Amino acid sequence: MNVLFVASECAPFVKTGGLADVIGALPKALAARGISSRVMLPLYPALTKVAEAGEDVASWDDLMGGPAQLLAAQVEGFDLLLLDAPHLFARDGNIYLGTDGKDWPDNAFRFAALSRAAADVAANGIGTWSADIVHAHDWQAGLVPAYLHQMDQPTPPVALTIHNIAFQGLFSQDLMAPLGLDASLYSQEGLEYWGNISFLKAGITYAQKVTTVSPTYAREIMEPEFGMGLEGLLSARQADVSGILNGIDLDVWDPENDEDLVAPYSVRRLKAKAKNRDAVLARFGLDPTDAAPLFCVVSRLTTQKGIDVLIDALPTLVACGARLAVLGSGDRELEARIVAAAHEYSGKVGVIIGYDEPLSHLMQGGSDAILIPSRFEPCGLTQLYGLRYGTLPVVARTGGLADTVIDANEAALTANCATGVQFAPVTPAAFAQAIHRTCDLFARPKDWAAAMRRAMRHPVGWDASSAAYETIYRSMLDA
Ligand code: ADP
Repeated sequence: MNVLFVASECAPFVKTGGLADVIGALPKALAARGISSRVMLPLYPALTKVAEAGEDVASWDDLMGGPAQLLAAQVEGFDLLLLDAPHLFARDGNIYLGTDGKDWPDNAFRFAALSRAAADVAANGIGTWSADIVHAHDWQAGLVPAYLHQMDQPTPPVALTIHNIAFQGLFSQDLMAPLGLDASLYSQEGLEYWGNISFLKAGITYAQKVTTVSPTYAREIMEPEFGMGLEGLLSARQADVSGILNGIDLDVWDPENDEDLVAPYSVRRLKAKAKNRDAVLARFGLDPTDAAPLFCVVSRLTTQKGIDVLIDALPTLVACGARLAVLGSGDRELEARIVAAAHEYSGKVGVIIGYDEPLSHLMQGGSDAILIPSRFEPCGLTQLYGLRYGTLPVVARTGGLADTVIDANEAALTANCATGVQFAPVTPAAFAQAIHRTCDLFARPKDWAAAMRRAMRHPVGWDASSAAYETIYRSMLDA
């Protein structure tokens, strides 16, 4: 079976969040099941080197305002298809945002181009290769099934995965014709959303199957609180919607073989984790005392991630004797507030604003627990890294966080199944209580070590989830 992945990011080449990790890992997991994938991405400057070895396999004279070609490149086990459209993608900076921090003004054209090119490849193949299934990801690839829908020829079925329903790709209806979309698609039953074009709605409407990245989030997005306006459509398509947990790449995230750690460790050699802890404390300028846990946060700094709630809970954390290392970037106001808190609680709270993949590994390796107070979390990856590294996740009970962490209540501790701490609702008071509970558990070294070992043994790879995707792909082929 051949699958065409269509996405806007893919680790390790270009990453702003969890989407990239999934695109970087799922094709490999599918390959182990005998399913071959090609991953189609825009050719951003970060991929120029990768593209050098590329072979020209398709071209367009005018793709959303300029010439484009498709380069096939095999790199690091990936079979990449890179859309070289310099008028859309050859620009420095963030892949979605200009230097002013705002979306690139032509994002509609940029990602419509990705979708249009992917639809052409899906419909016509490349040389002797053709896709049996198209797997489109998030709003950036949402138009793929819409373009296929308006073609007058047989086309492969599309699965759309929603990684975060908060990002929908909404653009002016005036763009229908410029984007090459049939006017007939502009209706409530199509891709119209309150007077705009919604790329994500297009994907949900025209894809044969819709998946999202955890069972709980699949249920949540059918409710007004989490559905961001698309709950009605998703409920109507309930029979075709499913939730499949993300896994993580067990080779990239492996405490026994992680070059970013100061000292490797494993379930059998937990003690070595302490050296990584020392390194994190030093890097963040934190007091090297040992009585209470070292917490970490590795996250976009946004209200979705509950960073405001984290800041409000800091007095409790510090009063418990705990320390906190924060790595992240995002909302400017939250960045400023967390930096101010680090000054106020000098030696107890340390903050590095920025994006630093190696440091994120060291923090997972060296912290005792990772805090994730998200207001919503489709799947979440950092709690999965936390489990794998024995860094107990302290999480809001929502989405994939609820599905992957087992709360350390007394019953779960007695039954030997706890792997972290959950709390709800996402308020400073409930979060503060979770921090207290975590500190109490940390003060019971045997129970803490047992929870660490269980966390590290908890399956967080792709085995079960890649099998679930295969089942969906096969059901689409049989339909
Ligand atoms: P989201 O995709 O909503 O941002 P996820 O938890 O699904 O959240 O994935 C976030 C990914 O980005 C994880 O791999 C996490 O380690 C990484 N990450 C987030 N912020 C940073 C940062 N500042 N530096 C390094 N890695 C980061």
